[in-house]
Amino acid sequence: MSPVKPQPANRLILLGAPGAGKGTVAKALVDLFGLSHLSTGDMLRAAVAAGTPLGKQAKSFMDAGALVPDELMVGLIADRVQQPDCKSAAGLVRFLLDGFPRTLPQADALDAGKLGPDLVVYLNVDDSVLVDRLCGRRTCPNCGSPFHIHFAPPKVSGICDRCGTALVHRSDDQEDAIRKRLEAFHRQTGPLVGRYAACLVTIDGAQSPAGVLAEVVSALRLRGAIADRTDDSAHAAS
Ligand SMILES: [Zn+2]
Repeated sequence: MSPVKPQPANRLILLGAPGAGKGTVAKALVDLFGLSHLSTGDMLRAAVAAGTPLGKQAKSFMDAGALVPDELMVGLIADRVQQPDCKSAAGLVRFLLDGFPRTLPQADALDAGKLGPDLVVYLNVDDSVLVDRLCGRRTCPNCGSPFHIHFAPPKVSGICDRCGTALVHRSDDQEDAIRKRLEAFHRQTGPLVGRYAACLVTIDGAQSPAGVLAEVVSALRLRGAIADRTDDSAHAAS
């Protein structure tokens, strides 16, 4: 029996609770695979600023203090992926989507827009670990430098290394607030893990950042996600 050639993964979604390390993984995937990182917040701001038809519609919802409807968000994504940085050498749409979908109806809207993922990377981390990670954050109210009581402690406890200001424990980083965010994630986004079971790769996100990355990269290589990047680099170098 000859091995089946894996389908290249061009449309990637990153799933994970707050604190699961999505930002670090997204940055590495952009660097390694040349994927364009699509964040819904950035796309909304750009479309509103550019005054595109969808941007104008989105602005009317935002001005009214309403959520932007899922179909409109998908329309923004569809517009965004027309840009050359979201096309592979073979002309296929490729992207890394982060922060969308967060709910089953959003996943349906994405499918209806023919933008469903062919690979979903899920960073799985126990809530207790996430609470430790998020609860230990300290921020400098003066210069914004981030610290962590265990993973990135300041030289002098409670004092910013850069400017000497007393660090604060922001209300977002207090345990009660974190537990609420995690509950919301499990309730709204948790069902996506089952929804995407056929194209889901679950990574143990509790290991070191280097371990997480190594696992994500090998999962992507197995699925041929790197093929186009190699072509592009060879092309650019010649
Ligand atoms: Zn500071």
